[in-house]
Amino acid sequence: MKYISTRGNSPTRTFTEILLGGLAPDGGLYLPEQYPQVSHAELNAWRNLSYADLAFEVLSKFITDIPAGDLRAIINKTYTAEVYSNGRADSDATQISPLRTLEPGVHILELSNGPTLAFKDMAMQLLGNLFEYALAKQNAELNILGATSGDTGSAAEYAMRGKRGIRVFMLSPHGKMSSFQRAQMYSLQDPNIFNIAVTGMFDDAQDMVKAVSNDHAFKAKYKIGTVNSINWARVSAQVVYYFKGYFAATKSNDEQVAFSVPSGNFGNICAGHIARMMGLPIGQLILATNENDVLDEFFRTGVYRPRGTDHTYETSSPSMDISKASNFERFVFDLVGRDAAKVREFWSKVDAGGSFDIKGTEYWHALSQFHFASGKSSHQDRLATIRELWEEYGVMIDTHTADGIKVGLEQRRPSLPLICLETALPAKFEETIREALGREPERPEALIGIENLPQRSEAMEADVAKLKAYIAANVLV
Ligand SMILES: *Cc1c(COP(=O)(O)O)cnc(C)c1O
Repeated sequence: MKYISTRGNSPTRTFTEILLGGLAPDGGLYLPEQYPQVSHAELNAWRNLSYADLAFEVLSKFITDIPAGDLRAIINKTYTAEVYSNGRADSDATQISPLRTLEPGVHILELSNGPTLAFKDMAMQLLGNLFEYALAKQNAELNILGATSGDTGSAAEYAMRGKRGIRVFMLSPHGKMSSFQRAQMYSLQDPNIFNIAVTGMFDDAQDMVKAVSNDHAFKAKYKIGTVNSINWARVSAQVVYYFKGYFAATKSNDEQVAFSVPSGNFGNICAGHIARMMGLPIGQLILATNENDVLDEFFRTGVYRPRGTDHTYETSSPSMDISKASNFERFVFDLVGRDAAKVREFWSKVDAGGSFDIKGTEYWHALSQFHFASGKSSHQDRLATIRELWEEYGVMIDTHTADGIKVGLEQRRPSLPLICLETALPAKFEETIREALGREPERPEALIGIENLPQRSEAMEADVAKLKAYIAANVLV
């Protein structure tokens, strides 16, 4: 399997060649040259596999340059009941991603039982083990630099802690995360994890990371890498649970289903698109946004118009407060029939702060063949959905999952079973749960009292020179 860039001007690469990198050299994103296809016979054979065995089958189609025995060992080490048993007590950890049925035809796929209680653990844990393997082979080291407002940073740290050859330098805005999120990250005592509390907002931290990444000499000397959501390995690992959810919600491979996905950077739902392109019978992919509705606008009107960071609202589903969806280019590449020149034309407008419009073009007609639907949700919708699920089913959900369920129920074709992807546990968003239900969210036993553990972080002004000096002092070259 070879990988090509959505901008069409980069040499083809193998999976391990793109594993540690970010964007392709031409500024595009990597995708398989062709989507591997899954036959009816394979679907039948996969239906009753364990999560790890299913992951091996799916990922073997994307990863052809790691020996099968090694890949199997990496996957078996990643998808264990022990790693994915942080969730609710009534959840079946051996399933890794159990399906919870609310009523016939309406399900939640639990993806948040990993160490940081968000679906990002599903892919990030695999990434940690793949990185460690690849670095050991090359006798190399990697220093991951990132900025986080909560979920991504903690998922990365829990995936990379204690790994040989890897250090994580994670910037977070001082005093801007919830005390739970802060405790999750800052209580890690592993010597390869460096938490940096920046005086300022998330954007200040993000700017510092960008400044370091643009210093190519520094970046090369200190082997700086990232784990952001454009990483292809993360997207491919997410394809697996669409298969898992499909098998759990159906009895035969002749049935179709709908998936509803709370979306921000378009990474999660991009994996659903890829699963469908591989031949998984998905009749509908329902994209849910919060008040930051750039993607909903595109699927309704054909206009893609990112709003810029000063017009991104802070909402009670903060992990979806995104204006420029970094994985969206992957889908548009397929939408325009893999015409890289068209993608370059569209993104030359987007990168200059503009927009593009496919209404009235052949692409608007083509869009219907990809079976998307979309909708948006507000703070009031979120509160109402959280209340409804608690009162009717005794199920407590988080704010992002609530957006997905609200839009999913609204947009679904009633003939299709609906599978709503759960993206986080309510314990991460206490304030809104209290507002909706007047009670505290359930918290997994292992995390009770986490705020009382000793914490470790480096306070820093938003100063790039200080950040570089700190990295240099902690990386021996
Ligand atoms: C990251 C995240 C999302 C958005 O996922 P994308 O892949 O960026 O679309 C939704 N909900 C939660 C809880 C997240 O952490």
